Amino acid sequence: SKCALGGSFSKGELVPFGNIEINPSAGVLNYGQGLFEGLKAYRTEDGNILLFRPEENATRMTMGAERMCMPAPSIDQFVQAVKATVLANERWIPPPGKGSLYIRPLLIGSGSVLGLAPAPEYTFLIYVSPVGNYFKEGLSPINLIIETEMHRATPGGTGGVKTIGNYAAVLKAQGAAKARGYSDVLYLDSVHKNYLEEVSSCNIFVVKGNTISTPDIKGTILPGITRKSIIDVARDQGFQVEERAVTVDELLDADEVFCTGTAVVVSPVGSITYLGKRVTYGSDGVGLVSQKLYSTLTSLQMGLTDDKMGWTVKLK
Ligand code: PMP
Repeated sequence: SKCALGGSFSKGELVPFGNIEINPSAGVLNYGQGLFEGLKAYRTEDGNILLFRPEENATRMTMGAERMCMPAPSIDQFVQAVKATVLANERWIPPPGKGSLYIRPLLIGSGSVLGLAPAPEYTFLIYVSPVGNYFKEGLSPINLIIETEMHRATPGGTGGVKTIGNYAAVLKAQGAAKARGYSDVLYLDSVHKNYLEEVSSCNIFVVKGNTISTPDIKGTILPGITRKSIIDVARDQGFQVEERAVTVDELLDADEVFCTGTAVVVSPVGSITYLGKRVTYGSDGVGLVSQKLYSTLTSLQMGLTDDKMGWTVKLK
C-alpha cells in the first residue's frame, strides 16, 4: 500500500467485556483511523452455530485498511478471531428464531501520533451482543426520507469503506429524520443529487416488474455483503438484477423497494418522502419480492434450508 505499512497482530486473548485503555494521542481519537465490521451468528435447531460469509467481512476490512493507511489482520486471523469470540460467548446467542449474536470487529489506530500521520500501532478487537430486529418494524415496512442537503460520501472520499467517520457524518441527518418519525435516511449522490446511494446502514434495491436494480459500487456506497448475496439469490430465483445508476424518479415509480444489510437483513420500504411528497408502495403490506428474498436469505442464515451456495460456516 502507499502508506508502506507493515504490521503484525499478536496472537490475541479473550478478556471479559469492559473498558480498554487508550492514549489520548491515539490515531483513532485524533484522526479517525478506525474501521469496523458487523456480522451475525445464529443458533440452529440442531445445536450448531452458523456464521454467514465471515471471509467477506475480513476481505472488506482489508480493503478498508488500505484506504485508511492501516495494517489489517489476515483473512484467516480475522475469521479465527471471530470464531473464538463467538464460541467463548456461546451463552449469549439467542435460541433459534429469537434473534442472533451481533459481532463487531474493530480495527483502530491505537498508537500515539501528534502530527497528522498514520498511527504507529494498531489494535484489532471484537465484541459481541445479542440482538433482535434492527428496525422495530421487523419485516413490516419502514419509512424513509430522502436527504437532499447532507451527504454521507463524496467521490474520492471514504464512503466505500467501513470507516468510523462515515457514521459520525450521518448522525445529524438520521437524528432529524427519526425525530420526525421516519425509520431512516436515504442518501443521494453528492454531484447530481439525482442518483440513489444508500441508507445510513444498509443498501437499497428498487423492484419494477421482474427487474431488480441497485446502485453500482463506485466508491461512495458500502459494498454490502447482504447486497452481494441478495443479488445472487435474486438471479437464482429468475429475477433480472441490474447494478447501475438508479434515479430518484425510478425509485418513486417502483413497484417495491427494500433495503439490505447484516442488521436489517431485508427490510421492505413502505414509503419514501422526497421534497415533502410521500410515495407509498404496495397497499401497506410487505411486497412479495421483498418477502421472498427475506425468507430465502434468513432460512439460509439460520440453517433452515440447504446451503447450496456454501455461504454458511459451522462453528461446531
Ligand atoms: N451500507 C452501510 C453504510 C452500512 O453500514 C452497512 C452495514 N454494514 C451496509 C450498507 C450493509 O452492508 P452488509 O450487508 O455487509 O451488512
